Amino acid sequence: MDYLQGLNPEQKAAVLQTEGPVMIIAGAGSGKTRVITYRVAHLIQKGVDSFNILVLTFTNKAAREMRERINHLVGTEAKNIWMGTFHSVFAKLLRVEADKIGYPNNFTIYDTDDTKSVIRAILKEMNLDDKLYNQNFVYNRISAAKNNLISWQEYQNNEQIQADDFSSGRGLLGNIYENYVKRCFRAGAMDFDDLLFKTNELLKNHPEVLNKYQHKFKYLMVDEYQDTNFSQYLIVKRLAAVNENLCVVGDDAQSIYAFRGANIQNILNFEKDYPDLKVFKLEQNYRSTQNIVHVANSIIANNKDQLKKHVFSEKENGDKIKVMRAFSDNEEGKLVAEAIMFQRTTNGLKWHDFAILYRTNAQSRSMEEALRKAGIPYKIYGGLSFYQRKEIKDLIAYFRLTFNPNDEEALKRIINYPKRGIGNTTVDRIILAADKHNLTPFEIILQAPHYIDKAPASLSAFATMIQSFQVITKNQSAYESALHIAQHSGLLKDLYEDKSVEGLNRYENIQELLNGIKEFSEREDIEEKGLDVFMQDVALLTNDDKDKDPDADTVSLMTIHSSKGLEFPQVHVVGLEENLFPSQMSLNSRTDLEEERRLFYVAVTRAEHKLTISYATSRFKFGTLISCEPSRFLDEIDAQYLELDFTAKPATANNLSSFDDERNAWTRKSDTFSKPKIPSAPPKTTSILAKAHVPSPGFKPSDTSNLQVGMEVEHERFGFGKVLNLEGNKPDVKATIFFKEIGQKQLLLKFAKLSIL
Ligand code: ATP
Ligand code: MG
Repeated sequence: MDYLQGLNPEQKAAVLQTEGPVMIIAGAGSGKTRVITYRVAHLIQKGVDSFNILVLTFTNKAAREMRERINHLVGTEAKNIWMGTFHSVFAKLLRVEADKIGYPNNFTIYDTDDTKSVIRAILKEMNLDDKLYNQNFVYNRISAAKNNLISWQEYQNNEQIQADDFSSGRGLLGNIYENYVKRCFRAGAMDFDDLLFKTNELLKNHPEVLNKYQHKFKYLMVDEYQDTNFSQYLIVKRLAAVNENLCVVGDDAQSIYAFRGANIQNILNFEKDYPDLKVFKLEQNYRSTQNIVHVANSIIANNKDQLKKHVFSEKENGDKIKVMRAFSDNEEGKLVAEAIMFQRTTNGLKWHDFAILYRTNAQSRSMEEALRKAGIPYKIYGGLSFYQRKEIKDLIAYFRLTFNPNDEEALKRIINYPKRGIGNTTVDRIILAADKHNLTPFEIILQAPHYIDKAPASLSAFATMIQSFQVITKNQSAYESALHIAQHSGLLKDLYEDKSVEGLNRYENIQELLNGIKEFSEREDIEEKGLDVFMQDVALLTNDDKDKDPDADTVSLMTIHSSKGLEFPQVHVVGLEENLFPSQMSLNSRTDLEEERRLFYVAVTRAEHKLTISYATSRFKFGTLISCEPSRFLDEIDAQYLELDFTAKPATANNLSSFDDERNAWTRKSDTFSKPKIPSAPPKTTSILAKAHVPSPGFKPSDTSNLQVGMEVEHERFGFGKVLNLEGNKPDVKATIFFKEIGQKQLLLKFAKLSIL
C-alpha cells in the first residue's frame, strides 16, 4: 500500500471507499483529480479488471496525463481502462453500437464548421431571414435542445417552446431542427451533441446494450462533475444503475460552463439520486501559496450562490499578488513579457513554468506580439489550430468521404477541389436530386447521367476515384492509404505547384499531417491503427489537446476556460477590465456575473507560487481605441494580499492624472476597497483611430480568388468600396479599390482582409 502514502487521511478514505456512490465537492487544488488517479490505481491493485473501469475527464489531455500517472503507479494495465472525455468515450461506444439506432458504424463526426454549414444550407433552402434566424443562434438552440434531450419531435410538440418561438417571430425553429437532424442522418453524420444525445437514445431504447455496458463498467469515475450537462448526467446515471460504484468529484465554485448547459443541479440531484451517498471533504490546497489561496477565497466569497467550504494551504505565504497597470493592451503585453523574463532569470525557471490566461481569444494578439519581440517562445492553446487549417481539412475531407461516402459536408468541400469542372450549380442539382429521390448525394453521383441534366463526365470519374480509395484503405496501412489519397486526389500536386510562401506552407502542413499519421500507424500502445481511428481521434480533439509537442519549453497562452484543472508555477491573468472581464454580456444578471467571478476564481487558482494580475487603461476593440476601467473584481480582493505595481509610464503622461492620486485611491476604507478613481483619459491617438471603420457584425474576410472589377467589397479597416482594377498574376494580384471613406487604395489581395458583398 506504499502508493497510498501520497495522500492525506481524507483523500485516502475517499480512495479506499471503492464501493457505492461517492461524492467529493472540494475547492481548487485540493487533490480531487489526484484522488481519482489513485482510486483507479487502487482498484487495479485490489484485482479489479482494468477493462471494467470507466473514467470521464474534461479534456483528452487530462486523460492522457492520468493514464501516465496510473501507468507509473500500477504498470501497463492502465492501457485497458476506458478513459477520456465524454465525447471520445461515447464516440468509441457508438462506433460499436451505432447500427442499433440506424446509423452506419463508420459514421462521420461533424465539427462545428460542418454543423454551421448544414444550418446555413437549410436556412437558404427555407428562404429565411438570416437576421432573425442567425446561424449561431439556430446552432445554439439546436445544441441546447439536444443537451436537454429534447428531440425535434418533442420540440415541435412542446407548447411552451412553440409559444416562445412564435412570440419571438421564430416559429420555424422546430422545422429547422427537424431538417437538420434528417440531413445529418442521411449523411451518416453525428455532431458533437449527438454523441451524447444518441448514446442516451441507445441506452434508453436498447436494454440489452445498456445491460452490456452496465456490467462492463463496474466502476465509474467523473472528474469536473460541476460542468456536466443533463445529457451527460443521465448517461452516467444509466450506466451506474446496476453497480452504483460511482465516484464524482468537482467544485461548484469552478462551474464555468452554465452557458453551455452545465447545471449545478447535477450536484444536488446526486444527493437525491443516491441517498446512501458517502461524501468526503478535502480542505487542504496543495497547489498554491497561502496568499494565492487567500485571494481566491476572498474572490469567491462575493458569490451568493455557493456551497460554503473551507480551503487552506500550509505552503509558504509566498509573494503578494502583483497588480500591474498598463496604458494600452500593447504595453500590457510588454510588461508581462518583461516580468516573465525577469522571473525566469532571477529564479532559474523554465519557459514552461509560465502561463498567460485571458478571458477572450482576441487578447492573445498583444501578448503574442510582445513575446515575439522579446524572443520568448510561446504556445497558444486553442484558437485556430493545425487541424482547422483549410488544407488539412481538405485532405481529411477526402478521408471522411472514403469511409463514409454519404458525408455531405465532406463531399461539398472537395468535389471540386482540386478543380475538376464540377461547379456549384451541379452540386446544387445533385443535392436537389438527392432530396427528390430520397437518395444520398453520392448515390446520385454514381448514376449521374440518369438523374442530372448535362452531368459533367468528371462526376463519374470522381465517384470512381473515391471507390478506388475505399479499396486502398481496406488493404493498406493508415499511412500508405493517406499518402495514396493525398497523391491521387491531386491535392498534393495542387499545393506543390503553388510556389508562393503560403502555398509552400500549406504543402508542408500536409507533409506534417502525413508524418503524424505515420507515427500513429507505428504506435505500440494502441490496438487499432486504421485511418478511420486516426480520423476519429482528430475529430474529437478539443482545442487544448491540439498540442504537437507537449514537452517543448514554451510559455503557455490560453483562455481561462481551457486552463481548468491545470497548474503552473507562475500565472499572469491579464485584461482585468470592466466589460472585458467581467465581460459585457455578463453584466445584465447576477447569475451571469457570478459565473464570470467563478471564472476569475479558476484563473487565480491555477497559480502555484506566483500570481500577477494586470489591466490596461486603453485597448483596441474593433479597430477603435477605447478607454477602460479596472475590473470590479480587483476591488473585491482583500487588499492586504496585493502589491500594486503602477510604475509603468504612460506614453502620453500629460493627459493623465498623477499616479499618486490613483495609488491613494487604493486605500482601505472600512472593509471595502475603493476602485481607482481615474479611468485614465485615452491617449491622443484616439481621435484619429476612433474614425476607423468598424466592421459589420459577422464580418469575415472571404476568398478573393474570384474577385472581379465592379464588385462591391468591405475591408476590415477601410470600410466599403468598389473594385476598380485588378492587375498581376496569382498569387500576387493587386486590386485598386475605391473606398467611400478614405478614397482610392491599391491592395495586395493575398494580404487584404476583404469580404465580398
Ligand atoms: P482543480 O480543482 O484545479 O481541478 P484538484 O482538486 O483536482 O484541482 P489536483 O490537481 O488533484 O487538485 O491537485 C493539486 C496539486 O496538489 C497537484 O499537483 C497534486 O499532485 C498535489 N497534491 C494533491 N494532494 C496531495 C498530497 N496529499 N500530497 C502532495 N501533493 C498533493
Ligand atoms: Mg482537478
